[in-house]
Amino acid sequence: MPTESTFLLAGLFLLLAAAGWALGRFGDRDDEQEAPPPLNVDYLKGLNFLLNEQTDQALEHFLKMVRVDDKTIETHFALGSLFRRRGEVDRAIRIHQNIIARPDLAAEQRDQALFSLAKDYLRAGLLDRAENLFVRLSQGSRYQVEALEQLCRIYEQEKEWQQAIESGKKLEVLSGESLALQIAHYYCELAEQSVGEKDFTAARAFVKKAQSGRPRTQRGALTRAMIARETDDSKTALRLYHRIVDENSYLITEALPALVEVHEREGTIADLDKSLRVHLDRNPDLRTDVAYTAIVNDIGGIDIIDECVEAYMLSEPTLTEFIDLQTVNSASGEDRQNALNKVRSALSKLAGTIPRYQCKECGFSSQRLLWQCPSCRDWETQRPFSTVNFDSLLQRSTGM
Ligand SMILES: [Zn+2]
Repeated sequence: MPTESTFLLAGLFLLLAAAGWALGRFGDRDDEQEAPPPLNVDYLKGLNFLLNEQTDQALEHFLKMVRVDDKTIETHFALGSLFRRRGEVDRAIRIHQNIIARPDLAAEQRDQALFSLAKDYLRAGLLDRAENLFVRLSQGSRYQVEALEQLCRIYEQEKEWQQAIESGKKLEVLSGESLALQIAHYYCELAEQSVGEKDFTAARAFVKKAQSGRPRTQRGALTRAMIARETDDSKTALRLYHRIVDENSYLITEALPALVEVHEREGTIADLDKSLRVHLDRNPDLRTDVAYTAIVNDIGGIDIIDECVEAYMLSEPTLTEFIDLQTVNSASGEDRQNALNKVRSALSKLAGTIPRYQCKECGFSSQRLLWQCPSCRDWETQRPFSTVNFDSLLQRSTGM
């Protein structure tokens, strides 16, 4: 079957023929010595390759015939980006390299060709090569801003946070737009790396930098709290976690497991019970988040949390179909608890398989909290689902 590329190139060959170039004017050569014979052999060869569906050879002949010059350069660019868009990256690379090889190329056209080639490399997953070209373009060309934006994306993928910060700062200056939130997240990544390496001094320094910009990222506060928890500074950890929940209640899904851990370590679970009650009285909607976090993380044995879980299970219409409410209500204390525990442990197994967070900008959902949405690439846009879609979950698990 002829591919789309075959048709594309066939179209170009026909166009050239119609334009009269087939009669020895290919490439518009000025050099008499290089003048082609009147009926261009390359043209016939190219057509022959096309008829045999040998697209690569046909493309080579097209490039040979139509030398890059001021009249044809736009056609070359158009062809290159068309190939890239179709995912035929090798061909796009070949075309853009062919443009760059032209010795008398104007600076602006060279930059355009380099930028196109860098995008080809990016599409082909050749990040190192793309990075080299974007670095070159970021140092002085009309593609500076785009090149720095692409560099940030590459460094994010490669987890080269220090370089991401440098590119981000240059981009801020050039574009005049604040990237404070994005850069703060880069610093948090470095802080989390340092925590992983148990280098808490470095981690604290990175968090401080993350916290110095505006708007502040909530992740900085969470990382600070994590450092305190990891270094057994329970007092600071508790103060920070409680403050995080007060300021951004949705983060209770991230803070609750840590709060339980530290309060247990300190033997102050009663205090947690008390403060959580006060908090939930003020924000009753959070009961669902508490219940769901407890189910997913297998947190139990704390009165207020257990109350939230029970209320949640008994109020969720899909779940009540599976709970024999009459038995639960008439059973003695222990039997009742056993019946509820069974449902709870079944839920806990299922809950690990459905998304808990959703991006408020684009709707992308995930099981873990992601600070940058992989789909729209916005920062801090994920929120916990306010209701969990157990219908689809139960249908999936029972194979309905
Ligand atoms: Zn998104």
